[in-house]
Amino acid sequence: MARAYIDNVVFEITEACNQCCRFCYNYWRDGNAPIPAPDPALARKTLKKLLSQASVGNLSLSGGEPLLLPNVHDLVLHARFKGCKVNILTNGTLLDEDALHNFISLGVGAIQIPLLSSDAAIHETLTGLPGSWGKAFDALKRTGKTGIGAAVLVITRVNAPYVTATLSLIRDCGIRTVMVNRFNIGGNGIRNLRELVPDRIMLEEAFAGVEAFAVANPEMRFVSGVCTPLCLMDTEKYPHISFTRCTTELSGRPLTVNYSGDVRFCNHSPRVLGNIYSRDIGDILGDPRIKEYYAAVPEECGKCPSFQRCGGGCRAASEQVYGSFAVKDPICREISSLHEGDGGDADAEVRQQGLYDL
Ligand code: SF4
Ligand code: SF4
Ligand code: SF4
Repeated sequence: MARAYIDNVVFEITEACNQCCRFCYNYWRDGNAPIPAPDPALARKTLKKLLSQASVGNLSLSGGEPLLLPNVHDLVLHARFKGCKVNILTNGTLLDEDALHNFISLGVGAIQIPLLSSDAAIHETLTGLPGSWGKAFDALKRTGKTGIGAAVLVITRVNAPYVTATLSLIRDCGIRTVMVNRFNIGGNGIRNLRELVPDRIMLEEAFAGVEAFAVANPEMRFVSGVCTPLCLMDTEKYPHISFTRCTTELSGRPLTVNYSGDVRFCNHSPRVLGNIYSRDIGDILGDPRIKEYYAAVPEECGKCPSFQRCGGGCRAASEQVYGSFAVKDPICREISSLHEGDGGDADAEVRQQGLYDL
């Protein structure tokens, strides 16, 4: 079989994390099972296996928190040696001077760090870790100076009103690329819906704030990486924010591989497509049954002219909440039932149906 080429892979090197973010989308953070400790040797073995089966253009080391692995720089070195561009997705709290210096020496392209608010108390309410704001802010400043920093802002009901102040602080750190994602339902976030899901107006006002900030700061770049249903929010109103589209064509989309070799559609999806220790990744990606699964169109979206543009929103979130890719993004239902009196207590309703138990 010809060696596969994959443009983007998110490699989850551990499930463990030193934070417990209220919005964390990691499907294993549903409170049902203890989270395994990092396994640096297995992560290294799996990375070698992956890069023996496929050429990977861009490899993002993620988790959990990737800096919990003492050999994270060794993994970067191996990937760089195999020709990958490498990015690090970290919460920033463990990024000390040495770690940053080593990443720079190894030619890491970008280090992405969330700053959830200009207000430390709001940031730490969301991360669950006292002291995390100061560490993330410091890490952002240091990566901003080196030119490889990028910030992440997850918009929830808690921090939405403070978007402009947060972006100002991010800009003042020297950061020029910001990923601005609306809260995407999954993982620990499923248990905190009432607190985190913004209403429509709040969401639109937050994105209008980002748009105005982008206009005033043309040297900065704003990307929104979570597909948002267009029936919830018209993204055309925000032309200075690049909204990415989620393709279901496996060979052309970012994929996720975890430290034990499981391959998934993306880091939000709980569904394992195969494991590279038992099946070559090229073979997994070419499997017609998997293609058929992702060809499903949600019933609600079947006749909608916007489907090509929004794809029904984030359907990995649908997998986490409803156990199915063939249903449109649960954010629509949660916003209308939590804030628009349509359907009553969404949380209780979902729980009653047993939808939290995948
Ligand atoms: S969102 Fe990131 S930093 Fe927060 S708990 Fe999840 S993996 Fe850790
Ligand atoms: S395709 Fe579905 S989610 Fe997207 S706008 Fe239409 S109905 Fe809404
Ligand atoms: S399914 Fe959702 S989280 Fe996954 S790539 Fe698409 S929009 Fe992003």
